[in-house]
Amino acid sequence: MATASSIKSETLQTLPSDAARQIQWGFVDRYDLQLLVQSARAVARGPVARLVASGGRNSHEWTEAKAQLLEAFDSSGITAVFMDPEHGGYLTGPKNLALALVAFELAWVDGGAATASLAGCLALSPIHERGTPEQKQHYMSLAAPPQPGETRKPWRGAFCLTEPIPYVGVDTGMLSGKVRIAEWKPDEEPILQVEKRGRFITNIGFANFVTAAVDSGDERIKGSCIVILEETDPGVFDRGTPTRKMVHQLSSTGDPIFSLRVPASRIVGGYDVKDGVLVPRYNHSEVIEAVFRRTRVTVGVMTAAKLLSAVEPVIRYQRGRFRGAEMATPGSVRYELGLQAREDTLHRLVDVWATGEAGASLAFAAARLFDELDPVEKETEKLLAERGVVGGKAKLKALRGAADDAIALLRLPADDPRQAQLQRDLILRFVTLDSLADVLCPATKLWNTGWGAQMMREAVSLMGGYGITEDCPGFLGNKWMDAQLEATYEGPEAVQRRQLSVTMTNPLFLAQFRQWIREMRRIASEHPGTGACALATAMTMWLWTLDRLQHSTDAQGAKLYNSARQGVTFPLADALCWLLAARCQIMDVLELGRRGKQDPSVAEGLPGLVNFMSDLCHVQTARASGEAARIAAELVFGYNRHPAWDEQGARGCWNVDELNAFEGLIPGIAAYAVDVVGNDGSHPQKAGPCAKCSGAEPFLSLHSKLATCLTGSRLAKDRAAEAISKIMIPEALDYPA
Ligand SMILES: Cc1cc2nc3c(=O)[nH]c(=O)nc-3n(C[C@H](O)[C@H](O)[C@H](O)COP(=O)(O)OP(=O)(O)OC[C@H]3O[C@@H](n4cnc5c(N)ncnc54)[C@H](O)[C@@H]3O)c2cc1C
Repeated sequence: MATASSIKSETLQTLPSDAARQIQWGFVDRYDLQLLVQSARAVARGPVARLVASGGRNSHEWTEAKAQLLEAFDSSGITAVFMDPEHGGYLTGPKNLALALVAFELAWVDGGAATASLAGCLALSPIHERGTPEQKQHYMSLAAPPQPGETRKPWRGAFCLTEPIPYVGVDTGMLSGKVRIAEWKPDEEPILQVEKRGRFITNIGFANFVTAAVDSGDERIKGSCIVILEETDPGVFDRGTPTRKMVHQLSSTGDPIFSLRVPASRIVGGYDVKDGVLVPRYNHSEVIEAVFRRTRVTVGVMTAAKLLSAVEPVIRYQRGRFRGAEMATPGSVRYELGLQAREDTLHRLVDVWATGEAGASLAFAAARLFDELDPVEKETEKLLAERGVVGGKAKLKALRGAADDAIALLRLPADDPRQAQLQRDLILRFVTLDSLADVLCPATKLWNTGWGAQMMREAVSLMGGYGITEDCPGFLGNKWMDAQLEATYEGPEAVQRRQLSVTMTNPLFLAQFRQWIREMRRIASEHPGTGACALATAMTMWLWTLDRLQHSTDAQGAKLYNSARQGVTFPLADALCWLLAARCQIMDVLELGRRGKQDPSVAEGLPGLVNFMSDLCHVQTARASGEAARIAAELVFGYNRHPAWDEQGARGCWNVDELNAFEGLIPGIAAYAVDVVGNDGSHPQKAGPCAKCSGAEPFLSLHSKLATCLTGSRLAKDRAAEAISKIMIPEALDYPA
């Protein structure tokens, strides 16, 4: 029986097993997803890795070898993940976590392969989220892989929003693509003429259909819509030239041109006719919002996968760095530890690993949340319709009332039984989950890909020159560049920050955030080694800063927190993301500790694994808290004017005579006076009298509390580094270099 002290000193023996990951990322009870992971991994580390290793990424052209990957996706079950069983799929229920796991496995080896697979789902998503039942049945079934005995080829799709400059990019409202009525015979369905040019459209080299965003160019059509185009529609379906991209070369990207006649039934979600005008039921923004809301999470998963995939190749490189040299004889430190004898190399790897863990935890938490939200959303829609709550305004009013009720319940003490209503009441549950999804999705996309790209550079740097060669094991150089695309497509960072700057101020989200702070303190008392206490302090500081910025002005009297002031709202969104990721990481490690005991294969090395993972949490919370504190301090003080050595500034200073007089009464007081102005106006050589912090005292006390909360975080880093220097890894990577 292990004693308490021996358990505490136990540490990681091997890389985390699949069984441990299943617990951490919430699919330990989903055998179907565990099998899916194995299938996706076989494709990733088989055909995908072989194609990359044989130079498949050296061209941006769509080749036969790349096309074969699509067939591998079909035969392994990857393509069918997106479909419901009635449309040829095999997974019932929501599929956000399933798609996230597939993305994780593919991106572990190559982001382009992951994108090629996901872009098909993206093309179908408008139909899945807002399509009519007929559209769903038709296109989902066509896109499903053939069943055994079937000879048909599955349809592939592309999603076409982005247009050639100067039109749609980050600003999705600036559409140049147009839809007009080509023909509208009495009592017949209208025929539409669609003109759309795309820029950087994934899957276009082989797509059989395209879901395209277009605006009305005809007074007989109201607003915008998403329309489905097929390659055999009459007119021009020109796939355009392939994009000469430097990333994700295993996917096909190009700038297509469409000029096609299609029936009006291709409008996603259908249309009504009012006073002779065709009115799409959903405009393009409504469809896109429903789509990106889910698909952006999977993009965030991809960058986290890259970081975690870098750990093993970096360890192997570091250990073997000097082997073969005359001085590095077996048994010597140089031979056995190689670069791992150097603290900095280990510490940097700890940072890469901790970031990967935090990113994966955040992304999988978001995916699980959408799995929970999807059926609740549908049920809520149904319930509201049954109650006669129809139309945008009435619905908004009902949901706002529910949000107020939810906030009131969340304010009750944690053990108040009335809080159970949040789970029992469908609409309360919906608004609560929805407010979280509004934050977690953009946070995942923003932090995982943006900060992930930075940390991927760090991973590459740990391999020295090797890191930026094609021979680098784990294709780390490719992954670094690819991460930048993940930060860009489906809306770059600015889009996510813009969305967060609105959703993170939702009082219902903030009420949950406050609960999380209390929860972190509780966790800290039971698991002090996770850094939960520092995180709680940083979260409190973030809340204080948000409130302060929402209610104050800059030196010129201009409002600080408003949508045009991206210099305020965007950094605060960044700060929040750091905190959310660190929180999710801690929650996953606690789950591992709790449920790991029930699985004999995990239980064996569990104390060591949990100790190591807790140390990574501690490292990450220290970094996250520090980042949040740095950003918050800049925002709280940075918009105040620094006092100058002028009349106004001098009012807060000591006069030398005055100070001397006080010194006579209270000996020593002069030592505390920093801003002393002489009778001749002379003053100390510095920017001006020191700035005061009036009104910001609580911030300063949180700031200094946070500094002391970091106690122990570097010890955790030392422990994690030591564990990495001892961990056993396989002799070789399980996919080719
Ligand atoms: C390989 C690849 C595949 C792609 N696949 C697809 C696809 O399948 N379908 C599709 O529709 N699109 C696709 N895209 C397009 C992609 O989604 C866009 O490139 C992306 O959304 C950014 O738009 P943009 O390139 O026009 O950048 P811009 O809009 O020109 O942005 C440039 C910079 O300015 C910043 N910026 C812009 N506007 C603002 C603002 N209002 N506030 C603050 N900052 C701002 C941005 O953050 C960015 O840093 C793909 C792109 C690539 C490279």
